[in-house]
Amino acid sequence: MSQQALIQSVVQEVLRQLGPGKTVVSSGSGRPGVFGEVNPAVETAQRSQRQLAAGGLALRDGIVKLIKSIAKANAQEWGKIELDETKIGRLDHKIAKLELLSGVPGVEFLRTVAHSGDRGIGLDEGAPWGVIGCITPVTHSIPTMTANAINMIAAGNSMVVNPHPGGAKCAAMAAAAYNAAIKKQFNIDPLVCVIEPPTLRTAEEIFQHPAIPLLVATGGPAVARAAMKQTKRSIVAGPGNPPVVVDETADFDNAARSIIAGGSFDNNLLCIGEKEVFVVASVFDKMMAAMRKAGAVELNAQQIDKLTKAAIKWDKDHHAVNKDFIGRDCDVLGQAAGANVARGVDLLFGETEESNPFVPEEQMMPFVPFVRVRDFEQALDLAIKHEHGFGHTAIIHSNNLARITRMGQAMNTTLFAVNGPCTACLGVGGEGYPSYSIATPTGEGVTNPLTFTRFRRMSVSGSLRIV
Ligand code: NAD
Repeated sequence: MSQQALIQSVVQEVLRQLGPGKTVVSSGSGRPGVFGEVNPAVETAQRSQRQLAAGGLALRDGIVKLIKSIAKANAQEWGKIELDETKIGRLDHKIAKLELLSGVPGVEFLRTVAHSGDRGIGLDEGAPWGVIGCITPVTHSIPTMTANAINMIAAGNSMVVNPHPGGAKCAAMAAAAYNAAIKKQFNIDPLVCVIEPPTLRTAEEIFQHPAIPLLVATGGPAVARAAMKQTKRSIVAGPGNPPVVVDETADFDNAARSIIAGGSFDNNLLCIGEKEVFVVASVFDKMMAAMRKAGAVELNAQQIDKLTKAAIKWDKDHHAVNKDFIGRDCDVLGQAAGANVARGVDLLFGETEESNPFVPEEQMMPFVPFVRVRDFEQALDLAIKHEHGFGHTAIIHSNNLARITRMGQAMNTTLFAVNGPCTACLGVGGEGYPSYSIATPTGEGVTNPLTFTRFRRMSVSGSLRIV
């Protein structure tokens, strides 16, 4: 089946599941909310946002729940479609990332702050921004767009999305399915407007568009820099290179299980995923044994050297990660390393020097370097150095409260996972709620509906107080 036919069939299936109702208004492409150009997308998003604003909280709540139910119902099929298009990551985790969307907070997360005193009352309310311009990554194309949609629509906004070209078809397919179902059930025009095919020109048009007051860019260093340069407000969910520190007091089996769970998730595509590990020398061998016991496969020095040469190239004056290895399975990496790695292995690991490029680079592949360090102090210094000041994510395995506190303070990262996998900070293996846009340089943290509101105050002088 062609991609176009597949998209039509998914939209039809969503409509069939919803039963008979009003006719779907199409954006001309047969895929509601999918546009070749930015201007008509913004016009549609402005119209649908006005309809949303007129409908009140119950409407937003209904739409958010509908989007979550569609993502969940289609998780298996869409996970496969996303993997087929992007060719990076793992099917089981692509599916899990879509299922996790049901935990993204909705309208219940919105807050009104009330002030009451001798001089009257005041209300601080989170108002919508209007149309939000979104840039999304290839690593989680449908999940990022969908989590943004849940958060942004709960806050009363519509959106225009420029997805990564490598994951644009599946994003457009999912948006069309959401928009069709929203039209059918609530008679609202497309709220999730997607540019397909997206280009750097359409990204720039979104950045510059006068009817878009807020930008949300999720991706690596280039897009983070581009969004930070804009004169309008930008929320930037930028790159990470999360270090892990393991000290003498850690529970090594738990540390190994956690590093495997987080570092292998979707073949280490997560921006929060464990990327390099610093282990105190006196327990280094114990930690390596725990990794083997937990099922990770160790590469020897020669194999690591071969893998490094294939996967990370020296390009003029800097290292560049070879895209052919990003998000690929362990057996593919094993082949490059000259090691016979069975299919289904979750994670490769091995001892390296600090100077190995896998340590400073955000490799986004399931090989994690382990560096032997003198003591906790050196581990912390290297963790700070190789996080590069992104302020994204850091992880520690320790039972020494003073060290946990010290690392939390010194790293100054948005997320800090203690004695669990990185995903604990997003509610998987720990407490918290998920989002696929973790705003790092701009400071909003794990995005939620409140992130996409403008705080406005009404103050009533001398009356309306009932006590
Ligand atoms: P990428 O930077 O290649 O692309 C991300 C998006 O930015 C794409 O839509 C791309 O087309 C666009 N883009 C790139 N350069 C641009 C420019 N100059 N102007 C406008 N748009 C531009 O990243 P990717 O490979 O898709 O995703 C992986 C990266 O994203 C990693 O660095 C990862 O850490 C980061 N990421 C961060 C978060 C977070 O929440 N902080 C979430 C997911 C991914």
